[in-house]
Amino acid sequence: MSRQGKGIERRVVRFIPFQGCARRCVYCDQRIITHDASVGDEVSQSAVRDALSSMSEAVELCFFGGSFARLEPGLMMEYMRSIESAPHGSVVTFSSYPGDFNGERGKALIKALRNYPIGTIELGIPSLDPHVLEVCGRQDDAGDIKKILAALQDEGFHIGVQTMIGLPGQTFESSILDVETLGGVMYPDSWDLRIYPCLVLRGTELEAMYRRGEYLPLELDEAARQSGALLRVAERLGFNVIRVGLHDSVSLKKSVVAGPYHPAFGELARSEKLALELFEKHPKGPWTVKSAMISQLTGHGAKGLRRLAELASMPLRAAESLIKII
Ligand code: SF4
Repeated sequence: MSRQGKGIERRVVRFIPFQGCARRCVYCDQRIITHDASVGDEVSQSAVRDALSSMSEAVELCFFGGSFARLEPGLMMEYMRSIESAPHGSVVTFSSYPGDFNGERGKALIKALRNYPIGTIELGIPSLDPHVLEVCGRQDDAGDIKKILAALQDEGFHIGVQTMIGLPGQTFESSILDVETLGGVMYPDSWDLRIYPCLVLRGTELEAMYRRGEYLPLELDEAARQSGALLRVAERLGFNVIRVGLHDSVSLKKSVVAGPYHPAFGELARSEKLALELFEKHPKGPWTVKSAMISQLTGHGAKGLRRLAELASMPLRAAESLIKII
C-alpha cells in the first residue's frame, strides 16, 4: 500500500522498551537494542508534545522497542494523540506484535487507527516456522499472521516486516521460505523489510541457552551469506529492504556475548548479494559493475570479490581481471 508521509525526512523516535510485551522473546533486550534504558519511561507525553509543536515541518513520530498495539488502550491513544501537536502532514509509525491485530480486539484497534495518520505499522515476524516461534517464546500463529497482514493491507496500511535469521531451530531454507511466503501475501505495492541476524545478548534467555549448549549462533560469514541471499529474494519479490543488521551502538557492541556481530553487517550482506547476482549472470565473467557499486566488491578486505572468485572457482586475481567498471 502506498505509504502516508512518504518523503518526510525528519523522524522523532520515542523508544518504549518492552512496553506492551506480554513476555520476553528469548533473544530480545530492547534496552540494549534501543541503546537507551530510560527514555521510554521518563520522557513525558507533554515533553513529546512540546517538542513536536516546536517543529516547522512534518515529522514521522515513531514508537519503537515495544509492542505498541498491545498497550493499555487509553495509553496507546494518548501516545497516538501526540501527533496532533505536530505540523500538518505528520504521521505515526510504530512496531508491534502481529497477534495484536487478531480477533475482535484487533478489529476494534484497526478501526481506531483509521482516525490517525499512520506511516508504517512495523510487525515483528522473526519467522513463520511454528517450531522456531515456539522455541523463541513467541505467541504467534503463522496462519494468523498471514491473515492479519492481508487484513491490514485491505485497510490501506503500509506494512514493515522485521524478520530474522539464525534463530534457534531456524534454517537457511526456512528463512527463504518465510520471505517467499510473505511475498505471496504482499499486495502489488512494496512493503518495507528489515533483516536482523540473531545475536546472543547479555542477560537474555538466549544467553542461558547458549551457555547450556542448546543454541549455536551463526558464524559471521554464514550470516552474511544467508542475509545476502535473503536480500536478493526479498528485492526480487518487491520488498523495500530498508535495513540489514541491527543499528550499531556502543551499548550493542558491549552486550553481544556471541553471534554474527559486525558494525557494518548490512554492507557484508550487500557484497554477498552483488557477488551472487554477478555470478548468476555470467558464471565465468566478465562482469560489468557500476562505479558506485564497486566498493561492494572491494570493501571489507575485498569480501565481495573473494566471494565472486569462490563462486566462479577461480583465483582472486583472475576474477579481479574480469571486472569492468562503468
Ligand atoms: S521482540 Fe518485540 S515482542 Fe519480543 S520482547 Fe522484544 S519488543 Fe517485545
